[in-house]
Amino acid sequence: MCLTEIRARITRACKDAQRDAQDVTLVAVCKNQTADKIIPLLQAGQRVFGENRVQEAAEKWPELRAAYPNVELHLIGQLQTNKAKEAVKLFDVVESLDRPALAEALAKEMKKQNRDLPCFIQVNTGEEPQKGGIAPRDVAKFYDDCRKLGLRIAGLMCIPPAEDVAALHFALLQKLAREISPQNPLMLSMGMSADFESAIRCGASHVRIGTALFEIMKKD
Ligand SMILES: *Cc1c(COP(=O)(O)O)cnc(C)c1O
Repeated sequence: MCLTEIRARITRACKDAQRDAQDVTLVAVCKNQTADKIIPLLQAGQRVFGENRVQEAAEKWPELRAAYPNVELHLIGQLQTNKAKEAVKLFDVVESLDRPALAEALAKEMKKQNRDLPCFIQVNTGEEPQKGGIAPRDVAKFYDDCRKLGLRIAGLMCIPPAEDVAALHFALLQKLAREISPQNPLMLSMGMSADFESAIRCGASHVRIGTALFEIMKKD
């Protein structure tokens, strides 16, 4: 089945990069997927999922979580500050921490709800004006500011420009992570369907895969 195929590709990429496959987490991106498409993955043991919209996650996940314990739900899409409250309730990890106002809103909500969600800082590695994220030169300061707010920064995340060689962006994200926190290297969420093997070579700890996972399923 599909999941097996993606897992095998992850394992192979790890082997090629002389990395332990245990160190790469597959985030199954199930935006626009209905519960009946997600359930087979849950049945096969997949537990880490990514959604990009609060509303969609709220419609699907409370029920799925009740049936399948230990799910880890990652928010991977841009979050409006007025939805921070619901997001902190629904999600376990925020991968799309992309601006100071959101850091403040999340920190406030986490305190209120007594929740401590690990966050990834989204870095706009391509410095694209239409895309969210912190510019590479501002990441170190933003990291410090987030920690002062009490946020647990687990790693960095990026979405490379579609037209670029993704590996250049992955290498930049890895370099930033090492510079910002040399003693305790940050995790790296990078790589999607088209380029996750390249991301694994550059040190990805999380690969976010949607299309490849669900497209293959259609063939089953
Ligand atoms: C949709 C999405 C993905 C998955 O992309 P695919 O190309 O479908 O694998 C990964 N990350 C983010 C932030 C997304 O929005």
